[in-house]
Amino acid sequence: METREFKPYLVLIILLAAASIAYALTVSYEISSVAGIEVRLPHRIGEWQGNELRYCQNPDHRQEYTAENLEDPDTCPECGFEMSGMSYWERQILPDDTVILKKRYQHPSQEVVLASIVLSGAERSSIHRPEVCLQGQNQRITGSRVISIPLEGRDDLDVMVLTLRRTVPGPNNTTHEFLTYYAYWFVGKGRETPHHIQRMIWMGFDSIFNRVAHRWAYIAVSGARVDHEDETYLDQIRQFVSEFYPEMVMN
Ligand SMILES: [Zn+2]
Repeated sequence: METREFKPYLVLIILLAAASIAYALTVSYEISSVAGIEVRLPHRIGEWQGNELRYCQNPDHRQEYTAENLEDPDTCPECGFEMSGMSYWERQILPDDTVILKKRYQHPSQEVVLASIVLSGAERSSIHRPEVCLQGQNQRITGSRVISIPLEGRDDLDVMVLTLRRTVPGPNNTTHEFLTYYAYWFVGKGRETPHHIQRMIWMGFDSIFNRVAHRWAYIAVSGARVDHEDETYLDQIRQFVSEFYPEMVMN
């Protein structure tokens, strides 16, 4: 490993070690409830019409619904189990005070985008690298890059874009392929980054020098890709995020 590549990790290790010591020694260390963002997903974003997603928590059902089709968004219409904004698995993995909001947005052109906000609770483990959850038995990450999205009245926003390929077995030994993208960035109080490692460094910095641990959120936008050569999805991300961003109230 080259020294240059190693550096951020070294800085991180030192910061985290120092943070642990600071945490152990100080009584004035505070877990702040201040988030860098207000957790809300608007009903409309420009021409995009949003619909909240709800998940059945019955381990044998785990069905996904859109809230507009439900009389009671807290009760599964089929099995009567409790419903949540988190999927069954997210609820198993994440601490109880994690907040997740998900909406499915549809454009009059029939394009569909899924937007989500995950806000960490007191336990900061609720936010990790999204890559960890996206790699699965039938799904793999085929690429990643950071794109800049021009926004009015401020600097460009850097967003991490992953391309994904999921395969599902069909009848007669056929395989169906689904190509998607997953774009995300992290938001802390007064801070934004597409890099998980940068977020970890800032968290270490804040805990040592400011003695606070702010609540971080990550915002994700995902959708479909037409084929392996398709790059039009990047325009979809740019268009959606540039309309979505001003709707989010920053602290
Ligand atoms: Zn159910």
